Amino acid sequence: MNSFRKILGILAFILLFINQLQAQEKDDITAEVFVFKNVNVLPMDREEVLEDHHVIVENNRITRLGPSAEITIPQGAVEIEGRGRYLMPGLAEMHGHIPGEDQVQYAEDVLFLYIANGVTTVRNMLGTKFQLQLRERVRKGELPGPTIFAASPWLSQEAIPTPQAADNAVREYKSTGFDLLKIGSLEPETYKQMAATAHEIGMPFGGHIPEAVGLAGALEARQTSIDHYDRYVEFLVPEEAKQGRSNGFFGSGIIGLIDRERIPLAIEKTLEAGTWNVPTLSLIEHLANEEEAEEMIKRPEMKYMPKQVLDGWVKFKNDYVQRDDFQPDDTAKLVEFRRELTKKLHDAGANIVLGSDAPQFFNVPGFSIHHELEMMVNSGLSPYEVLVTGTKNAAEYFATPEEFGTIQPGRRADLILLNSNPIEDISNVKDRAGVMVRGEWYPEEKISEKLQEIEKRNRGN
Ligand SMILES: [Zn+2]
Repeated sequence: MNSFRKILGILAFILLFINQLQAQEKDDITAEVFVFKNVNVLPMDREEVLEDHHVIVENNRITRLGPSAEITIPQGAVEIEGRGRYLMPGLAEMHGHIPGEDQVQYAEDVLFLYIANGVTTVRNMLGTKFQLQLRERVRKGELPGPTIFAASPWLSQEAIPTPQAADNAVREYKSTGFDLLKIGSLEPETYKQMAATAHEIGMPFGGHIPEAVGLAGALEARQTSIDHYDRYVEFLVPEEAKQGRSNGFFGSGIIGLIDRERIPLAIEKTLEAGTWNVPTLSLIEHLANEEEAEEMIKRPEMKYMPKQVLDGWVKFKNDYVQRDDFQPDDTAKLVEFRRELTKKLHDAGANIVLGSDAPQFFNVPGFSIHHELEMMVNSGLSPYEVLVTGTKNAAEYFATPEEFGTIQPGRRADLILLNSNPIEDISNVKDRAGVMVRGEWYPEEKISEKLQEIEKRNRGN
């Protein structure tokens, strides 16, 4: 009897063992392994091109890379031809917008427009619980899209009228699962309480700066990010010089009055605060350029946008240029000033991340990041320096440099495969052979197919 039990025990053990083996085998089949073969790697943690490398991706992560002669390709790996091509980390759109629950299809299309253009991370700069749901669906692999960091609803004086309300809102948004607070208009005392609570519970806050708080106030409060260079112009115009003129769109109304001697002070204060800037140069450049709004919506990428969105952009530009306080010369000056500020902040070592603000004002998600890259280069940064703002810097902003932003073992497999070297010419970032998002591979043919679908959906509605 005893030995019978022993045999049963051994049998059970063997069965368990076989079962495990089968499970393991199944795992090996489902877990996709990719190799980018003989590719030139732009690791982005240093300005260097690693020639003729193999890069292995397993379980959605970069696991190994090295000179092709030194790396053994795992059996069964999907091989992606990299010879003559360049592999760089995916880009981050640090001022993006994902449409809301009333436009689910449009929201899903926007997510794809981002990844089609190599944008593998989006900081969604305004939202509700809907974007939190999208964030989860994308994370679980149920929906193709970039990794989402989601900002709260707009913190405005109307919604949050008192310091107590600010304290409550910050705690509520944190516990709801938002990644940061979107700052709009708040009274100075309310803003102060918001900042205090946010720092206490570790909640980043960014976006605009309330007028009465001003640049100095926001930097003193250690605002995490300033978007659109909000309030820099106002800081540089002495109060007595304003002569009752209105600020206009991001300071376009008073740009002629700035005291240039104060620029170093603005930069010094920014550095001291460690605050990030998200320039969104395109917003002002799209307003200041002499192109008619009706012409701008004929750009090739506009076919992926719903018609009512395009109509809204045309109306905004046409209405704005009619305003009494719109001075074309001043707007051109503002463009120049923002480029200069970008270069000066960068050279001083201030924190800058790439962001265009899409879909806003002629910025088609994903496509607009390529325009923004070119505008950043026009500010005097090298293509490499600009790419750092959209890769390594973005991961540092989120304090997760080990997660993405560079090509190193352990990083999430967010990658762009290019046919030409982007460090030689920033427009080569558009010369794609494919995009990998969290280990999911989208060759160019698959991207074009899906883009055509989106185009069809928007044509005629
Ligand atoms: Zn925005």
